[in-house]
Amino acid sequence: MNIGIPKEVKRHEYRVSATPGIVGALVKRGHTVVVESGAGEGSSFEDAAYEAAGARIVGSAAEAWAQEMVLKVKEPVAQEYGFLRDDLLLFTYLHLAADRPLTEALLAAGTTAIAYETVQLPNGTLPLLTPMSEVAGRMAPQVGAYHLERFLGGRGVLLGGVPGVQAGEVVILGGGVVGTNAAKIALGLGARVSIMDISHARLQYLDDVFGGRVQTLASNPGNIAEAVQRADLLIGAVLIPGAKAPHLVTREMLATMKRGSVIVDVAVDQGGCIETIRPTTHDEPTYVVDGVVHYGVANMPGAVPNTSTVALSNQTLPYTLALAEKGLGALHEDRALLQGLNTHKGQLTYKAVGEAFGIAT
Ligand code: NAD
Repeated sequence: MNIGIPKEVKRHEYRVSATPGIVGALVKRGHTVVVESGAGEGSSFEDAAYEAAGARIVGSAAEAWAQEMVLKVKEPVAQEYGFLRDDLLLFTYLHLAADRPLTEALLAAGTTAIAYETVQLPNGTLPLLTPMSEVAGRMAPQVGAYHLERFLGGRGVLLGGVPGVQAGEVVILGGGVVGTNAAKIALGLGARVSIMDISHARLQYLDDVFGGRVQTLASNPGNIAEAVQRADLLIGAVLIPGAKAPHLVTREMLATMKRGSVIVDVAVDQGGCIETIRPTTHDEPTYVVDGVVHYGVANMPGAVPNTSTVALSNQTLPYTLALAEKGLGALHEDRALLQGLNTHKGQLTYKAVGEAFGIAT
């Protein structure tokens, strides 16, 4: 199959849909890969590396979009709608339920679009969202530790402490992918770490894998109220699939937190689990309420595009290979991939998007 890799055009998007290594794997299997010049630059991959992997570098987005299958990271933006057509297979993050104009553009063009975020394994997990949760989870203690520095408004606490000085306290709400990865890094920094979850099975698992080095706590209002008072760094990592995050830390609880403590609410993309959190950007990541530093960046992995690009394209590769080899036949063989199909020949094929817009599926 002929595969196109355009440069991402959305503001502040530095990832690319495939690394030179992934391109090499596709070329080895007999596929042709066309990469728009500069597509990998934001992730520190040069055109020359793609060329060495067997790609053809082209000077325009139109040439990359003209291929049978287009691999992207972000959903097409308005300036890209003109590239959509009925014999195009598009594989990318789409988030259509939040984007009516794009949904209508895909339907009008008759494009077959498969969304990374709705590819779902039989056990309910979302394999193409997990890598970004891993990245954001590992970043959370890192950005939190940085903002604890005094000149950035923090309390001036070093999370790892030093000999003779107590280490800082990290409290993590939600022990899923983000929470577990956050705990790993916080422990690595030498902090004292607690994780709270409503799932007892999850707490048992965390207690086992961390060998008792992490304090597990049942997530309930009493335990949360007590834990936030102790926290130097509070990390929000709760997810209720398909719903807004619950506000577990109320405005009243915030007032009891230490001045200069830091909140990193990774769940901000679902509304956040701290009542006072609002989305921020990498340009201006924090603001202060009641003396507590709030970090609410909704696309944390965007700050580390090299790692994020490698992590994402590692996970998309098996699906990309299946699509390149079998075309839409791959959907019949893999239910997980079939779940990813959002639009096909002018039909909306994903129920939740149809429900969001009142369009039949
Ligand atoms: P996950 O499903 O792996 O984990 C969520 C956990 O929350 C589960 O263990 C669940 O039991 C727990 N939970 C549910 N209700 C709870 C409650 N009341 N108290 C405590 N725990 C509760 O999800 P994830 O992949 O870890 O993602 C977490 C959030 O991070 C999501 O909102 C996701 O969209 C977001 N995220 C944000 C970014 C970013 O850049 N800001 C990046 C990646 C993911």
